[in-house]
Amino acid sequence: MLDDYKEKQPIVYRMMKNAVINNKLSHAYLIDTKNCAFGEQMVLSFVKYLLCPSHKTTNLDCGQCTQCQKIADFNYIELKIVEPDGLWIKKEQMDELQEEFSKKSLEGLYKIYIIHQVERLNKAAANSLLKFLEEPEAGIIAILTTGNIFQVLETIRSRCQILSLTKEKKEEIEETTISRAKIYIKNNIFELEQEEEQEKYQNFIHNVIHFIEYVEKKGIDTLLYTNKLWHTMIKEKEEFLLAFDIMIFFYNDVLNIKCGRNLHIFFDEQTFINELALKNEIEQISKKVNIIMELKKKIKVNMNNNLLIDKLILELTRR
Ligand SMILES: [Zn+2]
Repeated sequence: MLDDYKEKQPIVYRMMKNAVINNKLSHAYLIDTKNCAFGEQMVLSFVKYLLCPSHKTTNLDCGQCTQCQKIADFNYIELKIVEPDGLWIKKEQMDELQEEFSKKSLEGLYKIYIIHQVERLNKAAANSLLKFLEEPEAGIIAILTTGNIFQVLETIRSRCQILSLTKEKKEEIEETTISRAKIYIKNNIFELEQEEEQEKYQNFIHNVIHFIEYVEKKGIDTLLYTNKLWHTMIKEKEEFLLAFDIMIFFYNDVLNIKCGRNLHIFFDEQTFINELALKNEIEQISKKVNIIMELKKKIKVNMNNNLLIDKLILELTRR
């Protein structure tokens, strides 16, 4: 029931509950689940809370009444749930939905449709949904969910009330960038048994990310600062290889966010990664990964370091 989320997701819990109690429901919600495992369950609990007659008397969704049972069995006529059919949500799915919702409400006060992974609407489907959202009909509530709000079309976002869940605190919360990166890049890495070496390694990662930041923000001007940003810190061949690996994993994480997946390594850099995911198209990000991978091969054949970094900057900033 919705109360299960009272502690876990206090903010969204309150907003959902108050909306129902005060009868101030929005006609469209966009729920940013942050890929929480229970995201879809919480949405369903919200729907139960909305439709269960008990909430008015006991302030709880009972879970036992006909409505609650039907919802749990995905058998409630006026609740439709749409999910991607393959990779995308297609226009036919939207047409079908609208067709069903053009009929009058049968069972209850509201008709509700849930669209999971709404970032996966294809273009035609998105246009169709937009029209539907633009002309809200009384009694129809749209609940859209996404694990990645940055990928949802702005035109859809702006028509919804957005509820953002708080990212789940994983048990391995103490696992920082360093230990994750260590696992991923362990094959060609310094020995990290000692504390001070860990710190050294953390600094190293930090420097590499700082370099990426520079390239992303200053573009070609980075060429003027390669000494400061790179050559004074990264000298040995082993260090070069490691730095390139870190960049590859970093852009992979940008790609993960852009594609609605979870971060793998760089949790501490989430803000910057989100920024890059917004700024870059999927093709651009994959292109950058490829560039770095290709140039990494050149380290192995002992290409001149200065040239290599110049070439890296040139290629990464080329439009
Ligand atoms: Zn009930």
